[in-house]
Amino acid sequence: MKTVIVGAGPAGLFCAYELAKVGAKVVVVDSGSSTERRKCPMKKMGYCVKCNPCNLIHGVGGAGLFSDGKLNLDPRIGGDMLQFMKEDEAQRLIEYIDRIFRENGAQGDRNVIDSRADELMRKAKMAGVKFIPIVQRHIGSDMLPGVIESLKSYLEALGVKFVLNTEVDDIEVHNGSLEGVVAGKSIIKGDFVVVATGRGGAQWLAKKCMQLGIPTQHQPLDVGVRVEVPAEIMKEVTDAFWDPKFYIQTGQYDDFVRTFCTCPYGFVISESYNSFICTNGHSMVSLKSENTNFALLVRVALTHPVENTTEYGESIARIASTIGGGRPVLQRLGDLKAGRRSTWERIKRSYVKPTFTYVTPGDISMVLPGRIMTDVKEGLEMLNKVIPGVAEDSTLLYAPEIKFHALRVNVSRHMETPVKNLFAVGDGAGVSRGIVGAALSGIVAAREIARRCRHG
Ligand SMILES: Cc1cc2nc3c(=O)[nH]c(=O)nc-3n(C[C@H](O)[C@H](O)[C@H](O)COP(=O)(O)OP(=O)(O)OC[C@H]3O[C@@H](n4cnc5c(N)ncnc54)[C@H](O)[C@@H]3O)c2cc1C
Repeated sequence: MKTVIVGAGPAGLFCAYELAKVGAKVVVVDSGSSTERRKCPMKKMGYCVKCNPCNLIHGVGGAGLFSDGKLNLDPRIGGDMLQFMKEDEAQRLIEYIDRIFRENGAQGDRNVIDSRADELMRKAKMAGVKFIPIVQRHIGSDMLPGVIESLKSYLEALGVKFVLNTEVDDIEVHNGSLEGVVAGKSIIKGDFVVVATGRGGAQWLAKKCMQLGIPTQHQPLDVGVRVEVPAEIMKEVTDAFWDPKFYIQTGQYDDFVRTFCTCPYGFVISESYNSFICTNGHSMVSLKSENTNFALLVRVALTHPVENTTEYGESIARIASTIGGGRPVLQRLGDLKAGRRSTWERIKRSYVKPTFTYVTPGDISMVLPGRIMTDVKEGLEMLNKVIPGVAEDSTLLYAPEIKFHALRVNVSRHMETPVKNLFAVGDGAGVSRGIVGAALSGIVAAREIARRCRHG
């Protein structure tokens, strides 16, 4: 029996790995090519940063394996896997994923939860902040391409066929029976189809779900800023936890704010979409800056009459692009507090040198809605009690940083949609929000497919 996997990101690759290991016949189709990163227009420093071509059209490795490569080795992070399985089972699968990464050359350090976590938790509690100690491994954006190549070669040696530069247009279902997928004029037949199209393919998947009568639902959005501070300020914390997770409940609005994607000694970058531009961050093994950056994000859920969080996030991003003249807006925290815009002169006088300069110095309170601005300012002040210095006047804020999340596709605990033998996994199906979660969902689908192949 043959499985067609659409998408070669972490979800698709790990699904293929698990199936190929037991001798199943697998075809992986991806709209990108494995050499896409060499064509990346931002490849000025010998590595791939995440710009539009990398975010939305990927190729083998998807968004995840062209990223910073922070592996969150905890089932609570990166999409709640505990809605599909018990914690011990999820943790076993996570260790398995980490092992596969290591076998394919991922060498970054893995932190341990020790007395430093207790101390940080105590300090955070005293400031009204929650610190979530998690185990992580940081691979580095410069190391990932080698890991991807290794994994791909291994899969090919096991007989997995990669069909690249091929966009899947449709899923073939006749009288309720799945037949395969359509790519251009050809049909790729399959007994099972696993859709692993990531965030870039989320809208396409949502449309297909509507056509096939598969229920979906909107998920919350995360909106905020990318914060940049001198690396020394966060050194004590980031030496122990590469990407520390702080959760904050704000005073005025009782909103949920969190730190996300901390990049010690890293670089701020842009994330371009068709009609707007957002910010992000990454860090490398071979090249380090003097700063640390992280996202400070406010969780936004919408209810009646408007539930479409993606549309809301996009409208914020479009305002930001208008104010910034097509670039993200950069402001010193001191200028924000003083109610004045930042200028290049003011930023140059500051002792934090921005690692990203394709920005417009300005006023981020003209960009983000008032409630989100209040949450960001409160969040930074509370965080300052745990990490003194993060809310200094010289701290740099880049806006907007937005984490869009795909519509959540209605899938079973095996990741199967209501259409028999059609599975939806990874970020595109809204079941994960990170490399490990995506990989895990791919493995779950693969194990169920393998079971059905064995038992007919
Ligand atoms: C800038 C950035 C940094 C990140 N850093 C981290 C990090 O450090 N740690 C972490 O855990 N997560 C990180 N993430 C998130 C992580 O990349 C994703 O969670 C993960 O890649 C999702 O995996 P996926 O397989 O579901 O989708 P993707 O990785 O998005 O892969 C989907 C694949 O499907 C293909 N595709 C889409 N539509 C079609 C179609 N119609 N036909 C054929 N192929 C199609 C795409 O070309 C792509 O290759 C980062 C994301 C970004 C954007």
